[in-house]
Amino acid sequence: MTKDMKDIVALCKRRGFIFPASDIYGGLNGFWDYGPLGTELKNNLRDRWWKDMVLCPPLGPDGAPVEIVGVDSSIIQNPKCWEASGHVGGFNDPMVDCKESKKRYRADHVVVYWPKDGQGSGVAFDKDAEDAEIEKRLKKLTNKALADFDTAKLDQIDTAKFANIIGPDVKTPGTLTEPRQFNMMFHTFVGATSGDENKAYLRPETCAGIFLNFKNVLDSSRTRVPFGIAQIGKAFRNEVTPRNFIFRSREFEQMELEWFCEESEVPMWFDFWVDQRTRFWDAVGIPKSALHFLDVPKDELAHYSARTIDVEYAFPFAAPGYDELEGIAHRGNFDLTQHQQFSGQKLDYFDQATNSRFLPHVIEPSTGLTRGVLALLCQAYTPDESRPSGVYMNFTPAMAPKKAAILPLTAKEDHVPLAQKLYLELREDFAVDLDIKQNIGKRYARQDEIGTPYCFTVDNDTLADHTVTVRDRNTMAQERIHMDKVADYLKEKMK
Ligand code: ATP
Repeated sequence: MTKDMKDIVALCKRRGFIFPASDIYGGLNGFWDYGPLGTELKNNLRDRWWKDMVLCPPLGPDGAPVEIVGVDSSIIQNPKCWEASGHVGGFNDPMVDCKESKKRYRADHVVVYWPKDGQGSGVAFDKDAEDAEIEKRLKKLTNKALADFDTAKLDQIDTAKFANIIGPDVKTPGTLTEPRQFNMMFHTFVGATSGDENKAYLRPETCAGIFLNFKNVLDSSRTRVPFGIAQIGKAFRNEVTPRNFIFRSREFEQMELEWFCEESEVPMWFDFWVDQRTRFWDAVGIPKSALHFLDVPKDELAHYSARTIDVEYAFPFAAPGYDELEGIAHRGNFDLTQHQQFSGQKLDYFDQATNSRFLPHVIEPSTGLTRGVLALLCQAYTPDESRPSGVYMNFTPAMAPKKAAILPLTAKEDHVPLAQKLYLELREDFAVDLDIKQNIGKRYARQDEIGTPYCFTVDNDTLADHTVTVRDRNTMAQERIHMDKVADYLKEKMK
């Protein structure tokens, strides 16, 4: 079944999940606001991650729970931090402009089709362009078929050949500029004057705040290697081409764990975390069958990483492929080494058992919270022509923004007070909705679209025997249960 991003984006706006930021001013490219339901969904995913990492961390290979603590560090840090991490010097994307269309592209996101026979121009496409669209445009511009071409990414092509490339949005060759490096960190000024000496950066990733606090955490808690430090928070990147809804935005949220261990134990912990993260995604509604695990090839690894697995999800815009949801990287001891050198502070760990000091290695499962929300939305979106809404959101009960809706069958006096009573009881423990007006079919349709797993309807029978109808979102099947059993019923379903 194909899911169309346009439909998902429209539902998100229509039902209050996600809006363009500054919508009334025409928006701002790469920025998004979370509405009433999107906020609940994001909080549910965030809280589950925090629970699985910090409050209830998994059992380690020895059967005992592993140790993980949380931090919440500042978005703006001493700018030296970003020199040490390599972001000031190297957090760059190669950017290419088209002189004719005035569009800007990331060179590594553009694919060029070269005629195998060497006759004619290369034709450039966005990396997510669909085969049908590619085939059509190639035919039109070159009169050749898809099979007549080889492909190469624009950032791997000698710039001398750029004069012979037709850009993605034009019809003639030679309009693309040479790639320029573009630093993606947003900057600001701290204090009243705006000179270079006051320049500071908005963090481009949350993990730096963890490394900066490594020593503080060690000195103030009883943590021993191996252990982890987790953080959730905002990150900012001035992306060259924000796109695909909230997938690539300029302000987003990350959930990152830095797992500190001995170098000799890296392979074991690496596998451990890949397994744990797969279980996490499954538990929140993204089955392993919708994921793809990309062992990042050596020549594409970040300079500090010896191994990285990208956990990719079948986002509709990437179909029939996948795109990154989470990166699990072995970062060596690059970060602690750098911060130790730049700060002049000793950051090594003293191991009492062996009476020795070392800089622990790090395994980092790093995921976008907001990108995770997009995966949940895409996975849940289920077209169904048999129902009035034409679609329902198949969230797991635990992730659903609303766990249940309480619906009096009519707005008549005798149905409403009982519904209100049930609502007041349930809302102590569950995020529930009380929806009184409109015909019942329209109210069910609304709950289907926002992904509420259960609707409890109060009707005339409720007055007589205190039972309510439970309607199951996915099957639309109905059964009756006693009002007193509703809380237990929901609790059971949330497990
Ligand atoms: P890319 O190469 O696609 O720009 P990256 O590999 O640099 O991304 P990381 O630095 O590994 O991304 O970031 C870790 C996670 O943070 C990603 O897996 C993703 O979930 C999330 N993330 C990164 N950039 C963005 C963004 N611009 N918008 C939303 N989420 C993002």
